[in-house]
Parts: sequence; C-alpha cells; structure tokens
Amino acid sequence: MRSKIIAGNWKMYTTPTEGDKLADELVASLKNMDLGNKKVIIIPPFLHIRSIASKFQGIADVSAGAQNCHQETEGAFTGEISAKMIKDAGAEYVIIGHSERRQYNHEDNELLYNKVRAVLDQGLTPIYCCGETLVQRENGIYFETVSSQISEGLFGLMPDMIGKVILAYEPVWAIGTGKTASPEQAQEIHAFLRNLLAGQYGKEIADNMIILYGGSVKPANAAELFGMKDIDGGLVGGAALKASDFIAIIQAA
Ligand code: PEP
Repeated sequence: MRSKIIAGNWKMYTTPTEGDKLADELVASLKNMDLGNKKVIIIPPFLHIRSIASKFQGIADVSAGAQNCHQETEGAFTGEISAKMIKDAGAEYVIIGHSERRQYNHEDNELLYNKVRAVLDQGLTPIYCCGETLVQRENGIYFETVSSQISEGLFGLMPDMIGKVILAYEPVWAIGTGKTASPEQAQEIHAFLRNLLAGQYGKEIADNMIILYGGSVKPANAAELFGMKDIDGGLVGGAALKASDFIAIIQAA
C-alpha cells in the first residue's frame, strides 16, 4: 500500500526567525499525532533547513526538504546550492521542476533531468513537478504537456531509480490562485501519469509510485482530493504557512 505524503512548500516566505516559530508550532502538534502510514515533509527556504531539520529530528515520519538545487555537486556557481549541501544540512527531499522555477528561471526538462540525477546521486528523494498552464488546458493539450515533462525529465532513469522519485501534478492555473482542480480532473491526470509510468517501467513500479496533487489544497478540499484512487497526498503552498491549516490538511489525508 502506498503511503500518503503531505509536503508543505514555504516558497520565499518566512524569515529564519519566522520559520523557526512556524516549525515550533508544527512540532507542538506533530509530536502528539499518530501519523499512521502518512509522511510529512516541510520544505522551507534553504537558509532555514538546518535549524528546521533539527527540530523535526525526533519525530518519526516528519522530515525537511529543499525547494531546488543545482545540478552539479560543487563548483564555481555563485549563489547556487547543491544537493550535497542540502543533504548535509539535514534535508531528505528536494523539489525539482516547480512551475515557478520553470517559468521564472526558464528551467527546461533536460536541465531538470540533470537535477533529478544530482538529487538521487546524494541518496535524497526528488519531488518532480509537472503540470499544464491555463492556456494548455484550454487548448486541450494537457496530456501532451505532462507527458513530455515526465518523459523528458524522468525517463532517462533506470528502473531501480525511478521508484525513488515522488511525482507531483500541479496544474499551473491552480497554484496560488484559489482555483483547485476538481477531484475528478486531478484523478484523470494522476491515472494518466501512472499509465505512462507503467508503459515505460511496468505496472509494479507504476503502482508503487507516489503521485501528489498540488494547487490550492486547503483544509476544506483536502479530504476529497486525497480520497481519489491515484492521489497519494498533496504538495501544499499557501496553506502550509499557517500551522493550523497545514495540520488540518494532514488530518484530512
Ligand atoms: C505550490 O506552490 O506547490 C502550491 C501548490 O501552491 P498553493 O497550494 O498555494 O496553490
């Protein structure tokens, strides 16, 4: 049985001081919760990772992640952060290919494949994002869009590596807009992604892959989304910045 994962992407919000405070609030709730087969991942800005990862150290199934990394292990790349550094700071997951990075930093599938490799090389777990824009949805090319994001960004991986990746389907039109994909719309794409994986790597690997949904997940819509057959939890943005909302989303899973 696949576990459910709830990941909170803090984006470029919270100073380190504010981040510590939010993490302390989360720790106070999470340390008394029975997570069962759920896992929780907190993904703050790079600067906060070391402090926040140490706060979660004693809590089973709660860990820290990073929002991006460079594709090289080290080098003369001013301003960049490598997966090796992220690992040493205490994080276990790295988001790769978030739509905001695809859009504002012009990250393409080829670069993202190299980033996925860099994360896996460090023994960390990539959370690889895909999703169509509003124009792509309206033009009916959303299957093609996610299909090329997945095949170009991931299908170079060997079968023993793809199983270590978490996928996140995040329709761009639903991120931070308050518009959520309906559970049926999300399920349609999740099932499509699982089929795509089955075609490339076989049914067993596909059935075991975790596929998260992201895009305006809130306490009010989480249970319905997470109740769909192929939705294995959520990548949460805005609602991850308020401890009570994030905890309510975890409880909905
Ligand atoms: C995200 O940033 O990955 C996200 C899904 O944001 P939001 O929940 O705010 O739509």
